[in-house]
Amino acid sequence: MNTLKPLTPICKKLILPALALAAGTLLLSCKKEPDLMEIADRIHSNVLKIDTHADTPLQMARPGFDLRDEHDPWKTGSQVDIPRMEKGELNGLFMVAYLGQGPRDSASHVAADEKMTEYFKLIHQAVADNGDKLAFAQEPKDLKAIADDGKIAIFIGMENGYPLGTDISKVRKFYDLGARYITLSHGGNNEICDSSTDPNGPEHGGLSEFGKEVVKEMNRLGMMIDVSHISDDAFYDVLEISTAPIVATHSSARALCDHPRNLTDDMIIKLAKNGGVVQVNALSAYVKTPVPNPDREADMAALRESFGPMQELTDERRDEYRAEMMKIREKYKADLATVADYVDHIDHIVNLVGIDHVGIGMDLDGGGGLADCYDISEIKNITIELVKRGYTEEAIAKIWSGNFMRVFEEIMQSGSTSVRPL
Ligand SMILES: [Zn+2]
Repeated sequence: MNTLKPLTPICKKLILPALALAAGTLLLSCKKEPDLMEIADRIHSNVLKIDTHADTPLQMARPGFDLRDEHDPWKTGSQVDIPRMEKGELNGLFMVAYLGQGPRDSASHVAADEKMTEYFKLIHQAVADNGDKLAFAQEPKDLKAIADDGKIAIFIGMENGYPLGTDISKVRKFYDLGARYITLSHGGNNEICDSSTDPNGPEHGGLSEFGKEVVKEMNRLGMMIDVSHISDDAFYDVLEISTAPIVATHSSARALCDHPRNLTDDMIIKLAKNGGVVQVNALSAYVKTPVPNPDREADMAALRESFGPMQELTDERRDEYRAEMMKIREKYKADLATVADYVDHIDHIVNLVGIDHVGIGMDLDGGGGLADCYDISEIKNITIELVKRGYTEEAIAKIWSGNFMRVFEEIMQSGSTSVRPL
């Protein structure tokens, strides 16, 4: 859904007589919209666009899921596939190999490593199976080269350092499988650091000793350190130890939405001073503090009640549950944050640290999704909103990819590893 609509025939009919009567203001207000749309269309096509965080492999792992099919996000929960990436004119995507935090004994770490490795294989296979549309990317320069070739560049990010266990050699292993960033933690503390959302609170007081080694190894390899999800203390520890800039691949501004997953102004300022970039998350509850809605809560409670404990559900029942949950989401779509709310975060970061330290990491297929940009096909609405607010093409190019790719390049250059062809 576009926030700006092209001039309708009715509007034209009204204007022409008005023009004859020299009703200048009406003409101006109607003329403004198509101009903005044309500008936004042109800019959106011109600039390279990359989303730095999509949990699409979670969908790809589902039986019967085909990246070549166009899915209805409200019925299937899927927010990214090839037809919709093409509709959104996306040029590059960090597909995320994600694993939630689990038990931390050595057998569980081995199992996590195996599971994570499977996700990498899944991504490689999907790119190979769709070689006419997608190409695997490892270096910043690949984005433009692949876009020039008419394809979409697929980079890999690894979400959660949990599968490293306490084995530092695993950093190199996942780098060689194509990971260009590691999100150090997810929802719970791990061997590397504290999470911003562990229900039991911090345990290391920031980075652990092993975590410090991980940061050094990532610096050595020229790998991006993703500070999304980690605790505030861990963030400051990483910033102090890392010899390269750091990135937040999917984090918003806490000043606008008070959630521990978001970055405070002080964190954003220090990250920018260090040359890094914040990729704004489009997960509604991180963009705008949810307004309590008793009807929605009652519907959700009834759904949970009728299905019973999640861990006892069969795969089939889990799919049914998911489908019912999507219906509730759609019913209360109006409660979601909007593109305008999202761009408020971009504005805030720009006002705080300038145009060079902000980008887009929507967290699609991982909880992200705005009322008027619910899947990857609708990303032009972000460009339209930026144009409406007066951002130039140069600024929009920085937001959509320039800033992130610059930081990616700098981090990679500062490492000592040459990229091996896979
Ligand atoms: Zn995440």
